[in-house]
Amino acid sequence: MSLREKLVEHIRENGPMTVAEYMGACLHDPEDGYYATRPAIGGATADFITAPEASQMFGELIGLWCAHEWEALGKPAFNLIELGPGRGVLMEDLLRATQRIEGFRDNCNIVLVETSAPLRDEQADRLPDAEWALRLDDAPPGPSLIIGNEFLDCLPIRQFLRGEDGWHEKLVGLDEADTLTFGLSAAIPGPESDDEPGTVREIAPALEALIYEIERRLHDAPGRVLLIDYGYVKPEGADTLQALKKHTKVDPIETPGEADLTAHVDFARVAHLAANAQLAVHGPITQAQFLRGLGLELRADALARANPKHADRLQRELHRLTSPDQMGELFKVICLSSPNLPPPAGF
Ligand code: SAH
Repeated sequence: MSLREKLVEHIRENGPMTVAEYMGACLHDPEDGYYATRPAIGGATADFITAPEASQMFGELIGLWCAHEWEALGKPAFNLIELGPGRGVLMEDLLRATQRIEGFRDNCNIVLVETSAPLRDEQADRLPDAEWALRLDDAPPGPSLIIGNEFLDCLPIRQFLRGEDGWHEKLVGLDEADTLTFGLSAAIPGPESDDEPGTVREIAPALEALIYEIERRLHDAPGRVLLIDYGYVKPEGADTLQALKKHTKVDPIETPGEADLTAHVDFARVAHLAANAQLAVHGPITQAQFLRGLGLELRADALARANPKHADRLQRELHRLTSPDQMGELFKVICLSSPNLPPPAGF
């Protein structure tokens, strides 16, 4: 039975499902979910490409950032935790860039938080010394540096539409022909707001839970979290659910389990939750600002001087990572830290 058939049957028996339930099934259904069966990241035949897949300089600079923050923590034995490491490319570049930092590698326990079995296999090929966890809470206690690139965007969202008569939750149900379709709940009680009819508000319950796990970890032992993702500094009231297949946007309802399904990250919410939990918040700033602050241009120049025949490719990568029409501005970076640490590099 295909995932589509399973969802149709589920809805027939239980009624319409929330967008978050739909997204969770599409991404993580153990038999047919996108990440459980066919994640395709990086390269021309893939569904989408991420910054570490686009340029080795991305992971290298994050490596130097980690080395700097490890020094700021007082060079302890620590967990180097990556949330949603994909093919393990970022961590591989990070470790290469830090191999000459004395004591870094010896003190570092690599923990990969990953639910996808095929991606765990790819990560194990690149990172034989790592250990794996299904969630952040399962990583060993102690000082931690935590990184996550394009992890928050795949946490399922619920969506609420402002109608003339109040709020409605967006749901996935069936039309007369038993085809999956988006619909709306009856009006539900919701907050008073000035939102115009047509406004969509999104919440990500799993994001709230993750920030709670981060909060406990960073209060139990010193550490920092660096999160990089596409999203908004202030929510704009639009529907941001999107599905990508072979680098092309497809209809999220037409391809259950076959496409990568994501939503823009609400960085204002991340900052608000973290500040409420007495964590220090730096950013969000744009990816371009962050990478330039860490010396991306100098790094590209040095690599080009060492290997002039790569100069054009390096320029293209630089453009891809920082240009406003590429990843430079849509992508944001935020850092959450235990209290009483010096400011992090790059902010
Ligand atoms: N960071 C990588 C991959 C981004 S894709 C890169 O930049 O290339 C999202 C990653 O998060 C994948 O590895 C996916 O399997 C993982 N993932 C998605 N939802 C998850 C969850 N709830 N728990 C753990 N890992 C998850």
